[in-house]
Amino acid sequence: MTVPRAAGRVLPTLNEDGSRHWIRPRLSTGAWWTRRRVVGYSLIAFFIGLPHLRWMGKPLILLDVPRREFTLLGNTFLPTDTLILMLLLGSAVIAIFLFSALFGRVWCGWGCPQTVYMEFVFRPIERLLEGGRSGSLAMDKANGVMSPRRILKYLIYIPISLVLAHTFLAYFVGTDTLQQWVQLSPYEHPTPFLVMAVTTLLIFIDFGWFREQTCLIACPYGRWQAALIDKRSLIVAYDAVRGEPRRAGSNREHAGDCVSCNACVVTCPTGIDIRNGLQMECVHCTQCIDACDHVMVALHKPKGLIRYASQEGLAGRDSGAMRPRVVIYSIALAVCLGALAFTLGTRADAEVTLLRSSSEPYRMEADGRIANQLRVKIVNRSNAPQQYSITVDGLEGGTVIAPELPLTVGAGAQRTTSLFLLAPFTTFTDGRRPVTVRISDAHGFARDMPFVLLGPTRIAPAPTP
Ligand code: SF4
Ligand code: SF4
Repeated sequence: MTVPRAAGRVLPTLNEDGSRHWIRPRLSTGAWWTRRRVVGYSLIAFFIGLPHLRWMGKPLILLDVPRREFTLLGNTFLPTDTLILMLLLGSAVIAIFLFSALFGRVWCGWGCPQTVYMEFVFRPIERLLEGGRSGSLAMDKANGVMSPRRILKYLIYIPISLVLAHTFLAYFVGTDTLQQWVQLSPYEHPTPFLVMAVTTLLIFIDFGWFREQTCLIACPYGRWQAALIDKRSLIVAYDAVRGEPRRAGSNREHAGDCVSCNACVVTCPTGIDIRNGLQMECVHCTQCIDACDHVMVALHKPKGLIRYASQEGLAGRDSGAMRPRVVIYSIALAVCLGALAFTLGTRADAEVTLLRSSSEPYRMEADGRIANQLRVKIVNRSNAPQQYSITVDGLEGGTVIAPELPLTVGAGAQRTTSLFLLAPFTTFTDGRRPVTVRISDAHGFARDMPFVLLGPTRIAPAPTP
């Protein structure tokens, strides 16, 4: 069957017949590459070290999925912390909006783990073993026969993927659990072993095979960029006013500064030509800036034919940062962060919920008293175990039966206990009796919670014998 060919290349990673077009970018060293390397290796140390850091006895950051808890800077958030989690998420989203409006895709090129690990761990190993762009291209032409050096590259990728998988999972299960996983035999804990093996495999496939397609196809950020950035956002851009008309060769009369050397294209890790303008595939890695600067220096022309600039700035118009979207995002971020700080600052050391018995609203005892069952749920948000007392005000003439008092709740844990409140029928008005349940600990926490005891509105007369 004949495979129909596309009218042109639809993606830089696809050939016209739909087969994979492998991108083998040439490394361009220079000022921006040096800066990115410093940032990249610092971030790698940060990414790997972060799950091991502690703050007030807790992980600095832990997204504990099995326990549905999120720990950040010594604070543990539970699914019931809806407002705080919403404010955290809202702040993060608005910060992305603001950052993108000001600096374009600086996160993609400088901070994203996909770029950082690819460009500063996996790609350097590949260049070393395959001999750079020309060596890799020669191996690609070998009709599927894998060269020993390419096999060695993949073998080296495996332990690196294993380390990255452990690092990644440490953010979700914590380093203590991870240590147990590593020390136990796979037979004793097959599920964690499987999770680790699958994560390692996915990381290996991502960096060994899928590569830049994660940015081009899987990550939504490139598609958001059209909405997030505007003509005054800082981007990596080609100065067409200065560069055009581009022309190769020595006859440079009426020609722009671009000599059509293609150095900016062959260095691009996503395989695009920056001279075609702002494109979704551009991750702002700055490699084309360094490549073109080398060419400009060799031609004794000023650097910066490709540079960080806004589209308005390149057109010679005002490129100041202040504009309505920046002001609105800044105000929204300040409000969100302020609300978050206030909510965190005024958050009590414990969260208490009173629940009425679901089986029956009340029960009449043999002695005529009315019994209400009450369940008290306490979430201890402090960093130490606490003992909680529960007392009931407004129950004169009644009795509290509490099988478990004081109630001990571990740090960051939650427990539920039952109380039985008994009161004479005569103390109820229209079947209701309001009381106040007080929950307190020895360290100053106290919460008064109103509760209404339920009972019959009247007692049926005893049957006549
Ligand atoms: S590297 Fe510079 S001179 Fe060469 S093609 Fe790209 S923009 Fe033109
Ligand atoms: S166009 Fe330039 S900045 Fe954009 S991804 Fe390619 S090399 Fe990096």
